Amino acid sequence: MTDTPGDLETSPPQRRSLLDLHRDELVGWLAEQKQPKFRAAQILRWVYQQRAMSFEEMTDLPAKLRQRLAEDFDLFTASVEVEQVSHDGTEKLLIRLRDGGEVECVLLRDGPRRSICVSSQVGCAMGCVFCASGLDGVKRNLTHGEIMEQMLRLQRRLPADERLSHIVMMGMGEPLANLDNVLATLDIARDADGLGISPRRITISTVGLPPAIDRLARHGVPYNLAVSLHAPSDELRNRLVPVNVKVGIDKILASADRYFATSGRRLTYEYVLLGGVNDSIQQAHELVRLLRGRSALLNVIPYNPVAGLPYKTPSAGAVTQFREALEQGGVNVQFRTRKGSDIDAACGQLRRNREQLTESQLPLA
Ligand code: SAH
Repeated sequence: MTDTPGDLETSPPQRRSLLDLHRDELVGWLAEQKQPKFRAAQILRWVYQQRAMSFEEMTDLPAKLRQRLAEDFDLFTASVEVEQVSHDGTEKLLIRLRDGGEVECVLLRDGPRRSICVSSQVGCAMGCVFCASGLDGVKRNLTHGEIMEQMLRLQRRLPADERLSHIVMMGMGEPLANLDNVLATLDIARDADGLGISPRRITISTVGLPPAIDRLARHGVPYNLAVSLHAPSDELRNRLVPVNVKVGIDKILASADRYFATSGRRLTYEYVLLGGVNDSIQQAHELVRLLRGRSALLNVIPYNPVAGLPYKTPSAGAVTQFREALEQGGVNVQFRTRKGSDIDAACGQLRRNREQLTESQLPLA
């Protein structure tokens, strides 16, 4: 025996993540265990519909099989580091991944809707100057199992008679920079044996990467597309969304138009309203010129201030003027109200503000 630093003989073997397995891989593993194929559907039902937290709970599987599953796989590979519950029913989780990376995800309750917002990357490379997620750049893409684990952990916070109804890919990261894994997750999210959520209730939000938007169109599943615009001119957008320098608004709008032509799904443009930066009446008029004639909804989001950044939520008066100018210009506009404003609701903030947690927030053991 050697005792060199590289000698890992005494470490327990790293188990594979069940959620990262594709269905045919699970069927293959079951075949190796001399188990019938229908066991795969049984396992999936336990994971996605019966909300199992362990293999032990899967009581219609033979005990020996449950034991073999637990030897070879982890059902969940991450842990919930912090959970926050807002008085309006919004819940936010800070998830710690196996390698120590952290991401956030949110459950929103709105009438009968049970929507979740999940992350696609640890950090973000897009560098939007007002956003907490990208302040330290991107660390890595999440695997499709890690994206799914966020969905499942949020699902398990609902009472048994409630189901997840909507998914938005609007957490940390740029989903179109991790498109393969995002699409693999969403395949399971919309599968009847998975979460069974229609693609019409799933929204992918992007900073605007035209080649990836075209790929999404070719993929052919009619997900809703939301494009984060935030400025009516390249001059301003280059400053707020640095990746714009290489792309430009015209190319983004053209690729979004192509997505609309292929998918038939009405586009959403998102516009974070930053006081004194992009909220003037003149900028509203420019937006009207840009969006007039397009089948698009402009979703205006009041800025959620991020500690240490100089941007501010606009005044009520500025919001009203901005709104009136858009409505008079015939733009289909929606002003989103803030949810979870008493918790670190804008994605990226919880991870950032951890050191300043107060007693009302609940660090888990
Ligand atoms: N990278 C994707 C998805 C993640 S961000 C994208 O850019 O769309 C989801 C949305 O939240 C984006 O429109 C983003 O600009 C916005 N956002 C980021 N920080 C915010 C903040 N502090 N307040 C309000 N909206 C914010």
